[in-house]
Amino acid sequence: MIKLISVSKEYDNGVKALSDINLEISKGEFVFLVGSSGAGKSTLTKLILKEEEVSEGSIYLNELDITEVPNRRIPYIRRNVGVVFQDFRLLPNKTVYENVAFAMEIVGAHPKDIRRRVPMILSLVNLSRKASSFPDQLSGGEQQRVSIARSIINNPPVLIADEPTGNLDPETAWDIMRALVDINGRGTTIVMATHARDIVNSMKKRVITLENGRIIRDEQKGGYELEVPNTEKHI
Ligand code: ADP
Repeated sequence: MIKLISVSKEYDNGVKALSDINLEISKGEFVFLVGSSGAGKSTLTKLILKEEEVSEGSIYLNELDITEVPNRRIPYIRRNVGVVFQDFRLLPNKTVYENVAFAMEIVGAHPKDIRRRVPMILSLVNLSRKASSFPDQLSGGEQQRVSIARSIINNPPVLIADEPTGNLDPETAWDIMRALVDINGRGTTIVMATHARDIVNSMKKRVITLENGRIIRDEQKGGYELEVPNTEKHI
């Protein structure tokens, strides 16, 4: 589904954000991307979205090397990879319904399909009653659920979530996780960059840990950190 081969990223200012990343994510996986601030998590998600270009290496999305894709085909990537951000990024002058419908309009969906699908997805994230509200009339958790609805409205096989619970209190954060688990259960591959230690440790999903732009751990059913090794045993 997603495959990175020897990917490196150096920004124009000389900062080497990622070094020699090799990674394969299968269809239907739920993957956490963890690591301290500056480790390279956001850069990795931006490369998969082709918001930034790799310096070296290849990134395959469904067999297509997106590093070779010309900019005019970026809409293909946008249709295949949904994205959710920490700060929601909703359009303030549009209602909940319109925010979600807009994501279908920009990919040229038929109005009839929009009228059919938007209510269905709003119901999936439990927001049917808020369809006519504007973003500033919603709680943070509700705004994030709108953003999730928008990200999956075109049914992308992959969803990237960059710190989706970062602005939310713990209880609301779990609401968001339940929505993401539900979406993952319907077959969407999810890659979530996060600092939320409790969430990562409770979910028992694959955890990829970055440090200084390199993968230092990749564990199935992993946790936020390795347990401190008991060195006394070896003395
Ligand atoms: P994380 O998401 O793990 O906090 P980032 O991917 O944002 O890490 O950052 C990795 C490194 O790349 C950091 O040293 C950061 O300062 C640098 N960086 C990120 N974006 C840019 C940019 N647009 N230009 C230059 N350096 C950047």
